[in-house]
Amino acid sequence: MADVVVVGAGLSGVVCARELVAAGHRVTVRDRGRRPGGRMALRRHGDRVVDIGASYFTTRSDEFSAVVEDWRDRGLARPWTDTFSVWSPDGTEPKPGPLRWAAPDGLRSLVQDLANDLDVRGADPVTHVRTEGGIQVDGTACDAVVLAMPDPQARRLIGPDSPAHAVLDDPYEPALALTVGWDRRTWPDDDGWFVDGHPDLAWVADDGRRRGDGAPVLVAHSTADRARRHLDDPDAAAGPLLAALREVVPVPDGEPTLVHVQRWTFARPAHGHDAPFHLDDSLVGACGDAWGTSSSVETAFLSGRALGQALADRLG
Ligand SMILES: Cc1cc2nc3c(=O)[nH]c(=O)nc-3n(C[C@H](O)[C@H](O)[C@H](O)COP(=O)(O)OP(=O)(O)OC[C@H]3O[C@@H](n4cnc5c(N)ncnc54)[C@H](O)[C@@H]3O)c2cc1C
Repeated sequence: MADVVVVGAGLSGVVCARELVAAGHRVTVRDRGRRPGGRMALRRHGDRVVDIGASYFTTRSDEFSAVVEDWRDRGLARPWTDTFSVWSPDGTEPKPGPLRWAAPDGLRSLVQDLANDLDVRGADPVTHVRTEGGIQVDGTACDAVVLAMPDPQARRLIGPDSPAHAVLDDPYEPALALTVGWDRRTWPDDDGWFVDGHPDLAWVADDGRRRGDGAPVLVAHSTADRARRHLDDPDAAAGPLLAALREVVPVPDGEPTLVHVQRWTFARPAHGHDAPFHLDDSLVGACGDAWGTSSSVETAFLSGRALGQALADRLG
């Protein structure tokens, strides 16, 4: 039985840890946030939750589909929609696509479900990982370490002499998520709007339709360019983002009753890696949504799973 530290309790880290535990290893998952979930994040406003990170997920692989069906059977996930609208300066058109899934209690609840039986330590940031003469995580020896987070965050932890340092080189793009609510709905019953050709807005989700309670709450995601201008003071982006939202969705004229801006400094990878994970001879692994063809919840799941299986094989 090996001692493994998984740094990051987002979906990829939790899935990786489960594979290692299933293979009989002792696994500690450490996250700087208080709860598992990472970018599958929610925020509570009164008795409602709002998804302020990932908006939804899709499934392609049999492995992820099986997990999603189990979530559906237990009422944790539900099919949301296969049609969003596309807004452009020329007009708004419906756009059919793959089935998108949502979670009544927020996408974070799905990561928490998978983390239930794991030893997860929240509010426990890792500051350094050393590999010279054996792996040490914050000065404590272990047999292997998994960095399950965006490359820029992982690279900060690992010494420059580690092979992983050179590999973890994918820059990430930022985003801001504006949650905004009113006392009534004045917009059409669209589930969401992909926003094309706007300098500030990339996407708007109708959180009332996503939750299924019809609440008059929208979540608008900024472009990376708009986010870069507000990383030091995200609240200052509320005005410009609300003005942009008014161009796309016919929301009420009056002031909203709810406004919140969430900053995502590392929202999505700029490029992505060709491989599904990193694992080197010093038994440092890395996984997450940069390790696949496109950044997504499913990519994070598959990457964490593949690394967990490969590391379990390596540990014997
Ligand atoms: C605004 C936004 C919208 C998105 N929309 C969608 C969408 O609609 N559909 C979709 O499929 N995907 C979407 N995504 C992407 C999706 O959220 C991610 O692909 C997925 O959640 C990544 O999981 P992960 O485990 O790779 O990383 P993360 O979820 O980022 O987990 C990394 C974890 O590592 C922790 N951590 C970092 N540094 C340390 C440290 N030093 N010590 C301890 N812990 C640390 C973090 O706290 C975090 O919990 C979106 C992401 C964002 C930000």
